[in-house]
Parts: sequence; structure tokens; C-alpha cells
Amino acid sequence: MKLLEECKQAKRIGISGHIRPDGDCVGSCMGLYLYLKKVRPDADLHIFLEKPADIFSCISSVEEIDSEYGEQERFDVFFALDTASDRLGGAEAYFNSAVKKINIDHHISNKGCGDVNYVVPTASSTSELIYDLTEKEQLDEEIAKALYIGIIHDTGVFQYSNTSPETLRAAAKLISYGFDFSRLIEETFYEKTYLQTQILGRALLESILFMDGKCVVSVIDRKTMDFYGASPQDLEGIVSQLRSIKGVECAIFMYETGVLEYKVSMRSGGLVNVSQIASYFGGGGHVRAAGCTMNGTCHDVINNLSLHIEKQL
Ligand code: AMP
Ligand code: MN
Ligand code: MN
Repeated sequence: MKLLEECKQAKRIGISGHIRPDGDCVGSCMGLYLYLKKVRPDADLHIFLEKPADIFSCISSVEEIDSEYGEQERFDVFFALDTASDRLGGAEAYFNSAVKKINIDHHISNKGCGDVNYVVPTASSTSELIYDLTEKEQLDEEIAKALYIGIIHDTGVFQYSNTSPETLRAAAKLISYGFDFSRLIEETFYEKTYLQTQILGRALLESILFMDGKCVVSVIDRKTMDFYGASPQDLEGIVSQLRSIKGVECAIFMYETGVLEYKVSMRSGGLVNVSQIASYFGGGGHVRAAGCTMNGTCHDVINNLSLHIEKQL
């Protein structure tokens, strides 16, 4: 795919990513936004996302993100990044009505939902894909910083198996623009607020090992979230911590999103394909990291997931 070719004639260009945007979603959307702003100054450019977490305020122009979804006019080109169209939230209508729909993603569960699709499941992140698609002489420190944040978040700072030589080559080029990458990693990835640390502790304390210690599950209910004043963004990273327990092949973390409704996150050591399980329940993701929303009591949800995990193990 040739990025600039695809939107050559376009005057009105929109960009969006998935609901509850994570680092890769914010990084890839902002990276593409800053890049197009620079190379297509003539275009009427819009970016839509649910309000990103405060840690991402270090990205240039992040305040230009429209979280109100008030646009009426049709877009010539609309980009869906880091997701298929079903998780675009308020931007789904813009995507569906656009003259040309472009989908850029790295989720194995995404079959491509655009007129033009660039879906590469072997890529570490959508941010790495945006990097690939850019003309390198047009990159600058601010674009590089946004894309770098996306890559470190989806690779767990180059730790997960989705990290490839290409990922590291992209990262090497990106840090050459001179931003303080060490500080960026600390402030956007490792640093946690006191609230986040407390609720992480609570989730670890109340976790339950099962299937001979091969699985672990932890549930945070609405009441607990309210008690700590926690938002979904404050729960990022809990599932990875659970996966780090020695002997655990599959970790499940879930929090209550409504009456008999849970957002489920799963992480696998490699033996279990959690994308397959999440897809079965209407979600998706990657082989080792996936999610879905499920209905029922938390025991129903755990039982339903266990059946699938047990079969694979
Ligand atoms: P999470 O556990 O929510 O952090 O998600 C793990 C991975 O699965 C991320 O790459 C998500 O984008 C993806 N994912 C989570 N929920 C869904 C869903 N409902 N549909 C498709 N992909 C999902
Ligand atoms: Mn994402
Ligand atoms: Mn991603």
C-alpha cells in the first residue's frame, strides 16, 4: 500500500482508532495525524478518539483529538487504525460513510474492513506499520515520538514475542530524532499512580490459580472500581502481571462494565491461542493477547472461558 497515493485526491481526511485507546492506538493515530498534517497541509484533517489517558499528553497536538464526534460532513478518506470498524465507537459512522475506507491494523482476528486494507499480523504494532508507510525524510521528532510510544506499549518495551528485527530497526531510526526515550518509557509505560498500584495489588491479592496452576483469573467488580475511583485505563497492565506468575500459561483479567457484563482480557505464554477464544466470544486480538466483552455472572464467564482453555491445553 502507498499511503500518500491512496489519499492523493482527498480533501477531507479522517483518522480514528479503537474504543478505550491504548498506547499503540493513540501513537499510531497521532503519528499518522502529525505526518499528514505535515505532508498534506492542504487537507482538512480530523482525528477522533475517546479521550486518551493523561500519560499521552506528551504527544504533540494530542489536544486536537475530537472526542465529541460532532462532524456531519462526509469524509473523502477515513482511516481505521489498530482495529476493525466494529470497535471505532463514535467514529464508526464516519468510516462507513467515507468515499474511501482505509484499514491499517496488526490484529490476526481482523479480516480487513476497508476498501484498502493493510493488515499485517506479524507486525508488532499499528505504529510500526505507520512507520513503514511513511516517507522517512518527512519524519520529525514529534512524529517519531508518537510512533515510538505505540511500539513500546504493544511490545511491552520490546519484551513480547511480537518484537522483530524490523521492529528494532524502526525503533532505532525513531530514537535518532532525539527525544528522551528513556524518560518516555518510564513516564508512559512503567510509572503508575498510587491508585493504579493499589488496585493492581488488590487484583493480585484476590487472584485465583486453577487448572493445576496453569491458569489464573482475577476479577474487579464495579463496587471496587468505585471505591478506588478507578477508570478502565487504571486497569491496564494488570493482566500482564498475572501472566508473569511462574507456571501460568493463560491469565484472565476481567472487570465489570455493566449489569452481568464484563470486559475480559487474556494473555498467553504461547500454548493457548487466546485470539481464537476471544474471537469465539465476539472479540479478538493476537495469539498471546486478546480481549472480548462477555455476559453473565463472573462465574459463568470464567466457566465458559475455562472450557476453551482446557481444550487447547
Ligand atoms: P486488552 O486485553 O483489552 O488489552 O486487549 C488485548 C489485545 O486484544 C489488544 O490488541 C486489543 O486491541 C485486542 N482486543 C481487545 N478486545 C477486543 C475486541 N473486543 N475485539 C477485537 N480485539 C480486541
Ligand atoms: Mn490497541
Ligand atoms: Mn496494537
